[in-house]
Amino acid sequence: MASSDLPSLKGQTAIVTGASSGIGAGTAIILAEAGARVVVNYRSKDDAAETVIDTIRKAGGEATEVQGDISKEEDVIGLFDEAERIYGPVDIVFSNAGLQRDKAIGEMTLDEWNAVISVNLTGAFLVGREAIRRFRKKGLREDVSAAMGKLVFDSSVHQRIPWAFRANYAASKGGLHLLMESIAQEVAEEKIRVNAVAPGAIATNINKAERESHLDEMLKLIPYGRVGEPADVGRVVAWLVSDASDYITGQTIYVDGGMTLYPGFRGNG
Ligand code: NAD
Repeated sequence: MASSDLPSLKGQTAIVTGASSGIGAGTAIILAEAGARVVVNYRSKDDAAETVIDTIRKAGGEATEVQGDISKEEDVIGLFDEAERIYGPVDIVFSNAGLQRDKAIGEMTLDEWNAVISVNLTGAFLVGREAIRRFRKKGLREDVSAAMGKLVFDSSVHQRIPWAFRANYAASKGGLHLLMESIAQEVAEEKIRVNAVAPGAIATNINKAERESHLDEMLKLIPYGRVGEPADVGRVVAWLVSDASDYITGQTIYVDGGMTLYPGFRGNG
């Protein structure tokens, strides 16, 4: 099925990493609504991936779950192998999995640095590299999509806005920005499109504590006046992987209610 206000992704297979919660779950549901067969990747066994699959199936969509830690090379290769075994060639990849380990710079351990970089940056490299390899193996299928493959990374406004006490996270997303643009430049001539979404504050587990303790402070940073929902990001991803955006590659779409507009300057700075 394809919902009428979403671009059609009928006949295409999508992998979403870290899709058992938050933005990944919301996007998996929307890609399925747009008609894609969706592979819901999750890191460790829990019921949440099942809930995402159930939601998709109940709405008439197609989805399956595949376990894998995207910071591990063998797991990423296994994820794509399993996706191809179940649904055939992969057309769409949303590299979404990510985490935070906040700490003052003087107290940050090497483990806390590596924990974030290994998922948010190295994991994105592993997933992005495998996506490109599999798109090449599949080739162009013009009856399905104008592009040979569509890869979207989940970055953050913190690829641009520095973030005290979260240097590991901001560095991972800053690195992801140029990783995305460099891959996009390298593969554009093969008709592979590579883009990113950069969410602001979206209501998920990653910021649950901050939303509970500092909602008013958070809202001061969002000109549009509300915290975002996973579907706000999912709808943009659905468009970015559809032929409606066929001439767009190497771009970041900020999905942030205006957070990157420096709202502190509204009162003359
Ligand atoms: P979330 O915690 O709900 O989702 C993150 C998901 O990634 C979880 O399901 C988690 O299990 C998964 N994950 C973590 N490590 C993994 C690994 N090694 N292998 C596979 N999966 C793994 O939070 P979210 O907000 O939905 O985060 C999703 C992405 O959005 C992240 O990359 C995050 O940096 C980005 N983001 C979120 C916000 C926000 O405000 N929520 C803002 C900007 C960017």
